Amino acid sequence: MPEGDPPLSLRDLDAIGVSRLKKVGPKRASALAEMEIHTVLDLLQHYPRRYLDRTRQARIAELLADEAATVVGTVLRGSTRRIRGGRSLTDIVITDDTGRLKLSFFNQAWRERQLAPEATVVVHGRPTRYRGTLQMTNPVVDPVGDRTGRIISVYPQSDKAGVRTWDIAGSVNEALNRCHDRRIADPVPAAVQRSLGLVERHTALNWIHRPASMEESVRARRRLVFDELLRVQLQLVRRKRRLELHTAGLRHATDGELVERFWRNLPFLLTDSQRRVIDEIASDLAKPHPMHRLLQGDVGAGKTVVALSALLAAVQGRFQGALMAPTEVLAEQHLETMVSLLGDLSVPDASRLGGERPLRVELLSGRVGAAERRRTVAGLASGEVDIVVGTHALISEGLEYRALGVVVIDEQHRFGVEQRAVLRDKGPGSVTPDLLVMTATPIPRTAAMTVYGDLDVSVLDELPPGRVPVATSWARTPLEETGVWSEVRGAVAAGRQAYVVCPVIEESEALDVRSVIETHERLTDDGGELAGLRVGLLHGRVTPAEKEATMELFRSAALDVLVATTVIEVGVDVPNATVMVVLDADRFGIAQLHQLRGRVGRAEHASVCHLVGEASTPEARARLEAVVSSNDGFELAESDLELRGEGTLMGERQKGRNDLRLASLRRDKEWVERARTSAIDMIDADAELSRHPDLLDEIEFMLGTDDVEFLLKS
Ligand code: ADP
Ligand code: MG
Repeated sequence: MPEGDPPLSLRDLDAIGVSRLKKVGPKRASALAEMEIHTVLDLLQHYPRRYLDRTRQARIAELLADEAATVVGTVLRGSTRRIRGGRSLTDIVITDDTGRLKLSFFNQAWRERQLAPEATVVVHGRPTRYRGTLQMTNPVVDPVGDRTGRIISVYPQSDKAGVRTWDIAGSVNEALNRCHDRRIADPVPAAVQRSLGLVERHTALNWIHRPASMEESVRARRRLVFDELLRVQLQLVRRKRRLELHTAGLRHATDGELVERFWRNLPFLLTDSQRRVIDEIASDLAKPHPMHRLLQGDVGAGKTVVALSALLAAVQGRFQGALMAPTEVLAEQHLETMVSLLGDLSVPDASRLGGERPLRVELLSGRVGAAERRRTVAGLASGEVDIVVGTHALISEGLEYRALGVVVIDEQHRFGVEQRAVLRDKGPGSVTPDLLVMTATPIPRTAAMTVYGDLDVSVLDELPPGRVPVATSWARTPLEETGVWSEVRGAVAAGRQAYVVCPVIEESEALDVRSVIETHERLTDDGGELAGLRVGLLHGRVTPAEKEATMELFRSAALDVLVATTVIEVGVDVPNATVMVVLDADRFGIAQLHQLRGRVGRAEHASVCHLVGEASTPEARARLEAVVSSNDGFELAESDLELRGEGTLMGERQKGRNDLRLASLRRDKEWVERARTSAIDMIDADAELSRHPDLLDEIEFMLGTDDVEFLLKS
């Protein structure tokens, strides 16, 4: 590479195919391609899986029985033989200049090929004494080739493609050497790097692959993690600011009579948390640009009151409010709750000076009759309907609002960004209504910054007083299960009601339906656990009318027990129901179990949730134990992230580069915050990053526009 050329950007590195490297011929190139390594950039971003610190290795002669140790040696010989039970035993003998060590592997005959004579290997394990000599059974082994040096990088390798960790190390080494003169460009402002104590990118890429000390690898990782997170945050913050700057919003009057009256009429006092969140929202509403806020609150935290306060702020300024729910059942339930909380509020009547008329709240869903629907649609266009509650019917084409001022979307995970955008576009003229998105699926704060990074986030982190926490237990044995059913009968005898939720069967609604019907039969047959009780059945295949009829029977306590699929997961609110039984509980995720549990414990009665069934995997066991031991949605969200990793949060990527290769939303929490703060500072100073064209180019190149859309949808 000629001298004097500018440093290499990531885009430049991506334009150089790996076959340009000396050690990469056609065969190696196609093997690398199989590992998704096509360019020098791919190669440099194929980061070591871990490092071996050879200064911490032991000599074979110094090994002690039962003390774990790492040794480096050369393979002398290996052999495999059949042993009892049709198993095989492979013995490999290694040596350093102080002695010999036998490694034993059960049923891993391929080790003989992997650990051929003369190969240098790093072995980690716990030696045991066998017939007077030390040996290691099933140790962790890393072949390292003939690499020397203090720290050895171990790469994810592919046995299938036949690419070994030292092959990768060799190519990485060559690539880094060839970048040496031109250097790798660093588009992140030096001031930002300095203030965070970060090393330069060129250095970081060298240190992550060939550190001289573990300290160097740590500092390198920190810098590269920051880069990944900064790119995402810059994209999100930029998008958020654009929305704020380039869309005209409404300045709502937030301290009017109507909202005050609403609070005074409530049958309870607002919690501190509700008050704080209502203030946060009010201050957004009073600003000239549109609100774009996420409200997170655990099940039962009291989000409806908060939503109503926002909707009424619109109404008192003679605008309209809309609340969109993911299902008809939920929309209807919201309407019911809202009507009861609103009481008989009246609003100023535009047609009579100083006069008043009752506040008008209407439902718009697929189930509303044609005549009523026509009236509501006309009322929205004329402005006589103040608040409308509905499903996605609210965004149907042709539906006109006279002056839509505030939009609340409940349970955002069921809607996509596009739907949010359509509802926003229903504002008066070119004005964008304020948007509040509510979710009862808490996600940890730093994850929220990444997944919902273009929204401001408010958190309701306090439950209304007097709630008796739901006691959760896990019934693993048939005997314990019998106890669960007798508890259900006991609760019913005491005048309470119960839910029985049936398992989710791999994405197949048909199978779910069959399972719930069978369970219903089994429980209610003569001699069944719930024989003689009034037991309803609800699943995804019953008609909306039947579903509503069943819900109504349950609500009015004409049914004792409701056997259902997860259709009851969100929002169903029957305070008299105090027992939740979840069958085959290990088939549900943590968030889902917590949501289900939230269906009980909605009044002053003590409530219980029984998780039934054995755990099929250690992970399922950890999940169930987490749900049993905590009632805190945020704490559970953290456990969920621990157990499942962020893959589930970010979703599976369909295409494009995964830009979070090193960064972990769980391990690198403080770096998520730092990246966000840096991004906000940079965008505040330079909204379109026009003073940082290289960085802008890098973001566009690395993320593209689709990728951020994708992040937001998950
Ligand atoms: P969420 O939608 O967050 O799950 P809701 O808004 O449905 O919760 O509220 C759950 C229940 O708590 C409702 O019956 C509601 O009337 C009641 N509630 C809300 N806020 C309070 C409060 N501050 N004090 C007492 N009860 C409250
Ligand atoms: Mg709710």
